[in-house]
Amino acid sequence: MARYDITHACGHSTAHQIYGGNARREEQAGWEARRPCPECRAAHAHQRDTTAATQIRQADENDGLPELSGTDRQIPWGTRVRRERLEQVRDYLETTLGGQGAERVWPLVLRLARHQGEAGWWIDHRRATGPAVWEALLVGAGEAEAEQVLEQAERACREEARP
Ligand SMILES: [Zn+2]
Repeated sequence: MARYDITHACGHSTAHQIYGGNARREEQAGWEARRPCPECRAAHAHQRDTTAATQIRQADENDGLPELSGTDRQIPWGTRVRRERLEQVRDYLETTLGGQGAERVWPLVLRLARHQGEAGWWIDHRRATGPAVWEALLVGAGEAEAEQVLEQAERACREEARP
C-alpha cells in the first residue's frame, strides 16, 4: 500500500491509498489522474440528475400533469416513472393508431393520468407495458370517466379513419 497525492483531470488533488504491487499501483494512480476527483464526479452526477428532473418537470407542466404526492424518495422516482410510462403509452398508441391517431388520443391519456396524483401509483406500475398502463389508467379513473374517455377515443379514431 502506498499513499498517492493525485492531481485529477479537474485540477483538484486528493490523497489515495493504493494497494498492490508497484506496477499495479502506478496503473491505478494513472487511471485516477485521468478522471475528475470524487467530489467533482459526484457533483457532475447530481447535475445530470437535476437536468433530467428539470426537463421532466417542464414536460409535465406542458402536459398539465400535477405534481405527485408521496415521500421525499417517492416523488422524484414516481415523477420519472410517470414520464417513462406515458412515453410507453404513446408508443403503443402510435403503433396501433398511427401518428395522427395517437396525436388525437394523447390528450385523453393525459386526462386519465391527471387522476393519478400519488407517486406510489406510478411506482407500482413502473414495469407495466404501454397497453397495461393505458388499461390501469382507465380502471383507476373510475367507470364513468373511463367510459367517457373511451367514447372520445373511439370518436377520435373514427374521424381519423374518415378519408
Ligand atoms: Zn475535482
